[in-house]
Amino acid sequence: MAKNTPMMEQYLKIKADYQDAFLFFRLGDFYEMFFDDAIKAARELEITLTKRDANQKEPVPMCGVPYHSATNYIKNLVDKGYKVAICEQVEDPKVAKGVVKREVVQLITPGTVIESNMLTEQENNYIASISHFDDGTFAIAYNDISTGENSIALIEQGWDRVIHELFNQPTKEVVISSSLPESLQHDLKAKLQVTISYQDEITFNAEYRHLCDNLDDERLMKAFSRLLNYIQYTQRRSLDHLQTANVIELNEYLSLDMYSKRNLELTETILKKGKHGSLLWVLDQTVTAMGSRKLKKWIERPLLSKYQIESRLEIVEAFLHAFMERDTLREILKSVYDLERLAGRIAFGNVNARDLIQLKQSLVRIPELQSLLMQFPETSFQQLAKELTIPEDIVTLLEASIIDEPPISIKEGSIIKDGYHEKLDTYRDATRNGKQWIAELEQKERQATNIKSLKIGYNRVFGYYIEVTKANLHLLPEDRYERKQTLTNAERYITPELKEKESIILEAEEKSVALEYELFIEIRDQIKEYIPTIQHLADLVSKIDVLQSFATVSEQNHYKRPRFTGNTLQIKNGRHPVVEQVMQDGSFVPNDVTLDRNTNILLITGPNMSGKSTYMRQLALTAIMGQIGCFVPCDEADLIIFDKIFTRIGAADDLVSGQSTFMVEMLEAKNALSNATDKSLILLDEIGRGTSTYDGMALAQAIVEYIHHHVGAKTLFSTHYHELTALEESLNKLKNIHVRAEEYEGNVVFLHQIEEGAADQSYGIHVAKLADLPESLIERARTILKELETKDTSNIVEESGETSQLSFFIEDEKETISTNSQQESNLNQKIVQALADIDLFDMTPLDAMNELHRLQKKIKRGS
Ligand code: ADP
Ligand code: MG
Repeated sequence: MAKNTPMMEQYLKIKADYQDAFLFFRLGDFYEMFFDDAIKAARELEITLTKRDANQKEPVPMCGVPYHSATNYIKNLVDKGYKVAICEQVEDPKVAKGVVKREVVQLITPGTVIESNMLTEQENNYIASISHFDDGTFAIAYNDISTGENSIALIEQGWDRVIHELFNQPTKEVVISSSLPESLQHDLKAKLQVTISYQDEITFNAEYRHLCDNLDDERLMKAFSRLLNYIQYTQRRSLDHLQTANVIELNEYLSLDMYSKRNLELTETILKKGKHGSLLWVLDQTVTAMGSRKLKKWIERPLLSKYQIESRLEIVEAFLHAFMERDTLREILKSVYDLERLAGRIAFGNVNARDLIQLKQSLVRIPELQSLLMQFPETSFQQLAKELTIPEDIVTLLEASIIDEPPISIKEGSIIKDGYHEKLDTYRDATRNGKQWIAELEQKERQATNIKSLKIGYNRVFGYYIEVTKANLHLLPEDRYERKQTLTNAERYITPELKEKESIILEAEEKSVALEYELFIEIRDQIKEYIPTIQHLADLVSKIDVLQSFATVSEQNHYKRPRFTGNTLQIKNGRHPVVEQVMQDGSFVPNDVTLDRNTNILLITGPNMSGKSTYMRQLALTAIMGQIGCFVPCDEADLIIFDKIFTRIGAADDLVSGQSTFMVEMLEAKNALSNATDKSLILLDEIGRGTSTYDGMALAQAIVEYIHHHVGAKTLFSTHYHELTALEESLNKLKNIHVRAEEYEGNVVFLHQIEEGAADQSYGIHVAKLADLPESLIERARTILKELETKDTSNIVEESGETSQLSFFIEDEKETISTNSQQESNLNQKIVQALADIDLFDMTPLDAMNELHRLQKKIKRGS
């Protein structure tokens, strides 16, 4: 191999330490990438791939991005889950001997970005670490480096719970030990689409002692240290804004498994993965980005403490009735800057004078906020208001020091107010006096020469000069002026005294710009001391913002304050918070729910598309809204505080992780059955549908019985297996309800109304008709149905020449005894039946394709 240049040697040495990152290698005005980095980056960033050292035997692939526009390219890569190591020249190239020294100054990773243009305003950007212990427990530590938030949770219920937890509080990057078992690492990658990073060395840094004074568990300390070590490794800069680690006691919050969080579309929808159409979308009337982030956190962790829930509700209720005050409040909040992220940028030394002005402007609104809250007599308000004290010193300092409309740059002066610093004032006086003197000189020279158009100007090359037009040159005295520059129409001159003043002015200007920069840094560092205070304020302001948001949506959508009275859940005219918004026209049909001492399980029947799933989801969403302290969509509600919610809903096929629908269904059921308590809510929506009829029905019945006898959780169970309604007789805490539909001229009309008792028929065929399946097929399905209903199956078999069994029910078992022709007609039966069974309304196009593919395969295989 050809010998490398010294610079390439340097590159390779540094790159060796950053194998899993793109190395942005600073060369003059560019960041360059080489070898595989270059090939990959050229593809990802759509930039040109070139070659370096074409005279070498093996030219090196290379590509680069300009230093000035690097942020966009970095953002692009980081958004895709990659890491970028920024390698700078760390000595002046002019004084360097040999190759300029270079070092990685920052490793930018998806979980550790702080640049505001790489962050989403309304979302936290979490990184997490996992530590595992011999006793089978796990500890998760979270950090959002942009806000300084730190939290830690201990998980004693095993690995599954770790996945559920990380799904619940989404993270961009997870830091693990390379000793985490392979299978778990694989699971992590498969289930959560996150960047995985490794940090094996854990050294406790005494500098951060104060962040974990409250941690008395070795395991928590270990997880936290792992995370801090990794963050230090990536940042290499001041992290003064990191907040004391907050221990999340998971059993103080309603527990939602990952399936529920996804199925209920709490913060994003299943299909589009966006906020629009989620519960968060409906509830978010926050004014500040901090508030929006806080709301998301609250939705992810509903409360269990009645006291805490009630104190939120108390504030919401008061805000709801105080329309004027709420309006004023929203106005005030609008002018409050993102204090949380600002605190982070102050710590990083990333703020400019404009940011500090915005900080000041935000802080001065706080007393208004305080006195507004004081007007409410409720104790919750008084408590909040009391805490809303502002660091007066910062306001005074900023008021005295920084001008109201400073420039963006902090290196070009015009930031600091007059009178703030004596030395600066002297420099400025010198400049101003000098300029004044020059202005006066212009007057004097005009009079002396009698040239009205004579003027004094300034440019960077020649400094101050006297300009005289060619036409007036003859009026100029010969000796006093020294010619400096000739233009087409004019000549420019200088004089010794002009130059003398000039140097005073320029020197003073230069000194004052430098001094201003120094003063600005000093001010910024003074403000650093107040970071914890600013962070506390941010926390309070964001809470207030969320509570006013609850009041605002509750008013707009006519939500009612729920009561938490005990063991009875009773909702009058409940609505689905999202569906009713999407329908817009007020045509949503409200429904009641009752679950009391005598009723644990509601078995819901009704045709497809009648509203079963909607009814079930609406209960879960109502429960969650209540437990985060928001009013709920209904006329009246008594709610139970649920400890856990489990759901298995609809056709949410887990296409992403490649598991079959039925397997996912069973996993979700297992998760519910093994973790639910008698204080939990379970929603099982058409469970058992992914397998053959008898199979599915048998499983469904066994599950209902199991919940009834062993779990005791409040349960909503929808089914298209009509036969299950008979369970009402054997299970005393099970009640049948159904969604009413009416048949009108052979078509089904959905009323979306829940009524007691079992549905009288299943309407599946009606829906098939709605979906425009061929008339002959529909007719055939009707005949089959009739026969089945009379339990006399001989006719169906006869028609196809079949002699024996109902093998289209039981997929593969009895077929071996059939002859070929029997097999074929038997198969035809099955295909027709399978087609009739399809409910198109509950399928995604992909499902439909899969189903067709499956059927076609059967036909081709002949079995
Ligand atoms: P099912 O689960 O019974 O098949 P869904 O709950 O999926 O039915 O509801 C089907 C459609 O019916 C929904 O998309 C919604 O538009 C409408 N719907 C459901 N419930 C109601 C209701 N209470 N009022 C008005 N429309 C409803
Ligand atoms: Mg449904």
